[in-house]
Amino acid sequence: MKPREWSAARMAGVGFLSRRRHGNFIDGRECAPSHDAHLPVVDPATEMTIAQAPDSAAADVDLAVQAAQRAFEGKAWSGMRPAERERLLGRLSLLIEEHADELSALETLQSGKLNGLARAIDVGAGAEFVRYMAGWATKLEGQTLPNSIAAAPGSSWFTYTQREPVGVVGAIVPWNFPLAIALWKVAPALAAGCTVVLKPSEETPLTALRLAELAMEAGFPPGVLNVVCGRGATAGAALAAHAGLGRVSFTGSTPAGRAVGHAAVERMTRFTLELGGKSPMLVLADADPDEAAAGAAIGIFFHQGQVCTASSRILVHRSLVRRVTERLGQAASSLKIGSGFDPQAQLGPLVSKRHLERVLGYVEGAKEEGATVVAGGARALEGGCFMQPTVFADVRAEMRVVREEVFGPVAVVMPFDSEEEAVSMANDSPYGLAASVWSRDLSAVHRLVPRLKAGTVWVNAHNMLDSNLPFGGVKGSGMGRELGRAAVESCTELKSVCMSV
Ligand code: NDP
Repeated sequence: MKPREWSAARMAGVGFLSRRRHGNFIDGRECAPSHDAHLPVVDPATEMTIAQAPDSAAADVDLAVQAAQRAFEGKAWSGMRPAERERLLGRLSLLIEEHADELSALETLQSGKLNGLARAIDVGAGAEFVRYMAGWATKLEGQTLPNSIAAAPGSSWFTYTQREPVGVVGAIVPWNFPLAIALWKVAPALAAGCTVVLKPSEETPLTALRLAELAMEAGFPPGVLNVVCGRGATAGAALAAHAGLGRVSFTGSTPAGRAVGHAAVERMTRFTLELGGKSPMLVLADADPDEAAAGAAIGIFFHQGQVCTASSRILVHRSLVRRVTERLGQAASSLKIGSGFDPQAQLGPLVSKRHLERVLGYVEGAKEEGATVVAGGARALEGGCFMQPTVFADVRAEMRVVREEVFGPVAVVMPFDSEEEAVSMANDSPYGLAASVWSRDLSAVHRLVPRLKAGTVWVNAHNMLDSNLPFGGVKGSGMGRELGRAAVESCTELKSVCMSV
């Protein structure tokens, strides 16, 4: 079957959602954008427009923030018993699972991702994360603290801290894992008692809109979860700069993240930035080269390399580099490319034509700068935004393909001669999101882990995340942490109380 036929077949199942002109979701109901302007949502496998979503203006963002503020201040949510918030979040997680077919089909239609991946990550892991966060609603706590206040002879003081929700959380979400990353931001905010305005990427708004409907079905009060669609430069920027936010949580590129951070600091709004990466995978001399090559293939080709932690720099001890390069090249050439709905496909399309052209630009640039193409290096299939998985060798540290985040199925393989050189190459990047070390030598692993400038280090694995494991970067990869306790605590302010007794 051709990509167009796969998509047509699946659109029938979600036609009521995927074929219509959508509004925003504000204060518990669908709401037309103020200027009646819309943007097309395009299926990257077929390049067909599948729906229209609002091209919202600052006025729409303002409406949504006001609704979220009312819901927060009216105490319908923040004043609700934590056990009740936990129950509603639990119900939402079940509804996400019950709608797995529909949500994963929408995800594949709007982003092109493999349907199995949408099911496992956006829906499956997403629902699990909501359940995990539901549990935190009843477990947030302060501390009672011993004190040494010597105000007056005989005075006595009782001091403690308590956590309070920050207010309205603005969540700005990219297109690579639209539902999962939305849930990474929405669930901790709701667990903490905050209300939310969610701005999905203009490329992938459909699952966010459906999530808001499911939240209503679960019983969330109106205004607790609002969704405003539109472009980053307009709706996203208006949300980041809105005075009504207590916190803004952003995932996306470093330049856009920098703009969001600046806007937040202007208003003294708290913020979290989860930005790009150029994550190194270090294969030490004692590693099994075939195992490492298989790991590298998963690390870089998983979701067409559109993953912030993708193993885009494969650094291999010189004694193994030929074998690893050869095996990685073979793995790349053997991957079946096709529609995300094709159960045989191992690589779907990139998210958009614009993005495909950007990735191809890096590939052409690398060729011009003298890199050797080991595998791929061009578009794939006829029509659609498909790209061959690509491996480069003979690259130099200053090349753009080595330094910049390509965000596509493009890896570079580079040799090193010593542990010292491996660390220096790994850290020679403006980014610091993640890294992996491949070795059975425990001493070497323990020596390397603290020296790698990265928010996460995997050992003999890559791209492994867990609801309970904080996730975020250092350097140009951002600030703050998502997932785990850190995420829910970031949606609270710590208040200190000092009582004369
Ligand atoms: P962006 O950083 O531009 O977009 C991410 C999100 O931020 C989207 O919702 C976007 O909206 C919004 N946004 C964009 N500009 C602003 C702004 N000034 N203020 C507020 N919100 C804004 O990523 P792109 O989609 O343009 O992708 C470009 C590159 O970014 C990729 O090639 C990759 O390198 C990196 N990236 C990293 C991701 C990660 O997971 N860390 C995820 C996605 C991209 P809209 O899409 O509607 O413009």
